[in-house]
Amino acid sequence: MRILLLGAPGSGKGTQAKLLGERYGIPQISTGDLLREAAAGGGKLGRRAKAAMAAGELVSDEVVLGMVEQRLKKPDTKRGFILDGFPRNIPQAQALDGLLNWLGRPLQVTLYINVNQDTLVKRLTGRITCGGCGAIYNEFFSPPRKSGVCDACGRRKLKKRGDDNAATAHNRLVVYERDTEPLVDYYKAQQKLRTVSGDGGVKDICARIGNLIDADIRPLSTAVELGGGGGDGVQTIISGGQVVAAESPSAAKKSAPAKKKKKTAAVSRAGTTKVAGKKTARKKPTTTRRKK
Ligand code: AMP
Repeated sequence: MRILLLGAPGSGKGTQAKLLGERYGIPQISTGDLLREAAAGGGKLGRRAKAAMAAGELVSDEVVLGMVEQRLKKPDTKRGFILDGFPRNIPQAQALDGLLNWLGRPLQVTLYINVNQDTLVKRLTGRITCGGCGAIYNEFFSPPRKSGVCDACGRRKLKKRGDDNAATAHNRLVVYERDTEPLVDYYKAQQKLRTVSGDGGVKDICARIGNLIDADIRPLSTAVELGGGGGDGVQTIISGGQVVAAESPSAAKKSAPAKKKKKTAAVSRAGTTKVAGKKTARKKPTTTRRKK
C-alpha cells in the first residue's frame, strides 16, 4: 500500500498515519518528524530547518526532497508506506511522482482529511506529544488520563511542540492554504483523491479511513501482490480507479536485449531523470489493459 495523507496542520494526519502504519505493518514517513530529528541533531541542515519550522514556514524543497528520497530507498518501504506531511506544494508533488515512477511504485491513493478551521486551531494549540514514545494527546479533545503522564508509556515526558503556539499555528495554516491546499486539485486531476471527514474522535476517523482502505484500496493492493507487482511478470497499478496491467521493469529487462548498465540515476524536481550527468525526459512505460 502506497498512501499519502493530505490535510491541514492539525487535521490529525500524524495520528492517523501512525495508527494505519501499525494496522497494515508499513512505515509512516513524516517529513515533520525527519526535520525535527535533523533540527535536534544541530548540524547546518538542522539549523536551517529549525528556523523555518519555528516561523511556521516550509523548509526548502531541496532539503526535504533529499530526505524523502533517502527514506523511500530503505528496504522497509518495499511493502508500502504512508506519507505524512509530504508533499507540501506542487513542485514537491511533481518531484515525488517522478521519484516513485522511477522506483516503479507510484502512489495508489491520496487520503484528504478534511477538518473545519475552528477545530484545526484547537487541535494545533492544544496538542501535546510524549517525548518518550511519540503518543499524541490534545488538552481540549483527548487529554491523558493523568495530567502530565503518558497513558501509553507512563513517562512524564509530555510536552508541547515549539511550533504549536498561537502565532506559528496561524502562519502554518496560512502557508497550508497558499502552498499545500492546491494539492487537493492536483490529486483530484490524477483521480487519486479520496476525502474523509476529519471531525470527531481519533477512533471514528481511523474507522472511516480503515473502511475506505479495506473496501476501496486494499483489494486492489492485493491484486498487485497476486499479479506479481514488484516482482517478475505483470505489475498491476491503479490508475483512476481502474486496474491497469503493465510489464514490470524487471520483466522488460528479461525480454529486451541486454543493454549497457546505467549509472546511478536521480530524479529531479521536474520529474526528469538524470543519468550519468545527462538529463533525459522520463519514458512513460507502455501499458496494456488486462482483460477481466
Ligand atoms: P508537521 O510535523 O508535518 O506539521 O511539520 C512541521 C513543520 O516542518 C512544518 O511547519 C514545516 O516547517 C516543516 N515541514 C514538514 N514537512 C515539510 C515539507 N514536506 N516541506 C517543507 N517543510 C516541511
